[in-house]
Amino acid sequence: MKHFDVVIVGGGLAGSALAIALGRAGRSVALIEAAPRQTGAPPGFDDRTLVVNAASLNILANLGILDSRPTACDIRQIEITRAGAPGHLTLNAGDYGYKRFGAVIVARELGAAMLQALERTEGVEEFCPASLAGFESTDKAVRLPLEDGRALTTDLLVGADGTHSMVRELAGMSSHHHDYGQSAMIFNVLTEKRRPDSAFERFTPDGPLALLPQPAGRMGVVWIDDSHRIDSVLAADDDELTRRLQQRFGTGLGRFERPGRRANYPLALLRTERPIARRTVVIGNAANTVHPVSAQGFNLGLRDVAALADVIASCDDPGSSEALARYLEARRHDQQSTVAYTDTLARAFTNPSLTGQLASTLGLVAHAAWPSLSRRLVRSAMGFREPVSSLAREWTA
Ligand SMILES: Cc1cc2nc3c(=O)[nH]c(=O)nc-3n(C[C@H](O)[C@H](O)[C@H](O)COP(=O)(O)OP(=O)(O)OC[C@H]3O[C@@H](n4cnc5c(N)ncnc54)[C@H](O)[C@@H]3O)c2cc1C
Repeated sequence: MKHFDVVIVGGGLAGSALAIALGRAGRSVALIEAAPRQTGAPPGFDDRTLVVNAASLNILANLGILDSRPTACDIRQIEITRAGAPGHLTLNAGDYGYKRFGAVIVARELGAAMLQALERTEGVEEFCPASLAGFESTDKAVRLPLEDGRALTTDLLVGADGTHSMVRELAGMSSHHHDYGQSAMIFNVLTEKRRPDSAFERFTPDGPLALLPQPAGRMGVVWIDDSHRIDSVLAADDDELTRRLQQRFGTGLGRFERPGRRANYPLALLRTERPIARRTVVIGNAANTVHPVSAQGFNLGLRDVAALADVIASCDDPGSSEALARYLEARRHDQQSTVAYTDTLARAFTNPSLTGQLASTLGLVAHAAWPSLSRRLVRSAMGFREPVSSLAREWTA
């Protein structure tokens, strides 16, 4: 039976990034992924447009994941508007002393870049397609049988196996779930006016709408609404879709044309207060799954990855209770506050009377009357939360 320092179950964006980080740090790692390893095959490597904040860009660059240059459109300006209200709020990265707030990368391209980086990383053995059949942990090690009959042992089992994590369930970690009754529909569209370095967030009584820059004059649309209404938009033809988009967004980007393929995601919250157990930890969506309204899910998971890599770099036994307690301490506040903030925003849209208050709060937050508060919030939204991990600190590539 082969032994690894760390076994990671789930080769989505979080699990793959952790495998790269630990392999580069000289650890022996097994990465178990159920979906066949072709670009686009793991469920998370799809057409969704990810807003990757500045701290996450540092982590990805320091792990060599940006070496293959996935297409990344910088976000230098964010424009926030509210349906039915005049005016808008514009945030410029330059006003806060930054070159950019972050960048938009299509998950499929980021996934492909991760697979290339994994191939270059020594010390990582992939088991794919392969699925976990269960596990048994003792004070000394974890034994994992796979469904194909093979078995591995490890010092630390990491569950990066998504919202319905088997690792979390089998480890007996209790978690809180909430179904928002909303869905996110994504597609891209050609816009008449080009704003290549701007992201747009529009708050409407039915739900938020984001338009994010993509190459060649296209914008990625994230359209969030009640699941029944999303079903009706999914069924509309292209002309009807662009007409409804125009109605919802307004004329700020001119006419919308040639919408691309649509995909739909039901939205739910998952929060795991204590994502550790004996020689086991869960990260990314397996620990906390958040509503995409504030574009935080992957960014949060990547901060889990970077913090765990820091802890493992400084201890002999990565699965010891001391190591896991240090990880928990490093991540507790960020996980708690990110989930709470995102959930508050998401619930405001299922309660129309709160929507107005919310939009005015956003206005206040960025108001010049509170420049230092605003600066702190912007830095936090860019992913620089204390304690900032060594991978996030600076771009050394
Ligand atoms: C519409 C939408 C827009 C979003 N936009 C943003 C954004 O702008 N910015 C942002 O930061 N985040 C965003 N997110 C969130 C982001 O996509 C997720 O947080 C991220 O993809 C989660 O990655 P993960 O690796 O933790 O989980 P997953 O992608 O769910 O990966 C889990 C992996 O585990 C594998 N697996 C599961 N069970 C087993 C098993 N038993 N054995 C082996 N393998 C197993 C699965 O096949 C899968 O590949 C968005 C999400 C949505 C839905």
